[in-house]
Amino acid sequence: MGIELQNITKKFTDYTALDNISLNIASGELIALLGPSGCGKTTLLRIIAGLESADSGKIILEGKDTTNLPPREKNVGFVFQHYALFRRLNVYENVAFGLKVLPRSKRPSKSEIKDRVEHLLKLVQMEWALKRYPSQLSGGQRQRVALARALAVNPRVLLLDEPFSALDAKVRQELRRWLRKLHDEIHVTSIFVTHDQEEALELADRIVVINKGKIEQQGTPQEVYDHPANAFVYNFLGNVNVFHGRVHEGMVTLGGHSVDAPDELKNSAEKTSQTFVRPHEIGISKIRSEGNDLEGTIREIRLLGGQIGLNIECEGFDQPIDAEIPRELYLNLQLKKGDRVFVTFNKVKVFACD
Ligand code: ADP
Ligand code: MG
Repeated sequence: MGIELQNITKKFTDYTALDNISLNIASGELIALLGPSGCGKTTLLRIIAGLESADSGKIILEGKDTTNLPPREKNVGFVFQHYALFRRLNVYENVAFGLKVLPRSKRPSKSEIKDRVEHLLKLVQMEWALKRYPSQLSGGQRQRVALARALAVNPRVLLLDEPFSALDAKVRQELRRWLRKLHDEIHVTSIFVTHDQEEALELADRIVVINKGKIEQQGTPQEVYDHPANAFVYNFLGNVNVFHGRVHEGMVTLGGHSVDAPDELKNSAEKTSQTFVRPHEIGISKIRSEGNDLEGTIREIRLLGGQIGLNIECEGFDQPIDAEIPRELYLNLQLKKGDRVFVTFNKVKVFACD
């Protein structure tokens, strides 16, 4: 196992930041720790790195109990959200830093350090910038140097705390793909913290969703996206319409409309429910047909890259419905604001509330 966390709890005075977190990460795996701001992601990384101590629990890295080791002996690489390069050192010196301060017995020779730094800078494609200072680099370039610096000491595990979140969308996406490729070359056990579901879905072998200091769900991106364990995960993993209603006699009401209840709720006693429908799981037609008797009016049309976003007001619903349809369908139907359309829910997920 690369990382084993056993029952980690951390309180700040009365506030429980981490509530009995247990998690196993295989050697060489890249995990995304995904959750909203304030849910405890940074605290957990700091505890793994030894920068903060847990109130209880154990941290085992590559089979070694490191719970009570100081950060320097944990051998963990850390990349922070804000570029933490030394401003007065050039790129070469930044990457070499961690090696030069090693205890004498572990410190490589000068020429070994040079070889290693050059190798790492090649790996992150920054070998051309040896002599540059951080102020002469773009945000994305600085984070690549920060990554090389974190890898210099051959860490047991690599911790990345929202490393790309300060960068603009396009650079962020490029770096995300680049990091995935790099990880496939070097296979160091890694935890990538993010609050961005797209980043987590694209990058990680496995996603761990965390909320209020607790793990809500873990699984492959596909599992977590297609089978969210609960309402929180459903909501957090992408745009979704949430309808409040009731389960009753094998049917679920949502707004003024009802659909068949899912099997597990077919025989349920009457309960309040939350129904989730992702915008791309909504079908739109101009013609009424069996199964799509829900009618509404288009209030807004938005261009979303390849897709078209529609905002539809339906009778009996207290909130407009967000739909996303392929551009082609939009052009074929010649949709415009104010048009009447029929709406079908192709896939719904129902959670009973009580
Ligand atoms: P995230 O990284 O997911 O945004 P953090 O781990 O930074 O969340 O913080 C989790 C919670 O713990 C937050 O409510 C934060 O205010 C609180 N917290 C973090 N560090 C401290 C601290 N040193 N003292 C008191 N509260 C803290
Ligand atoms: Mg944080």
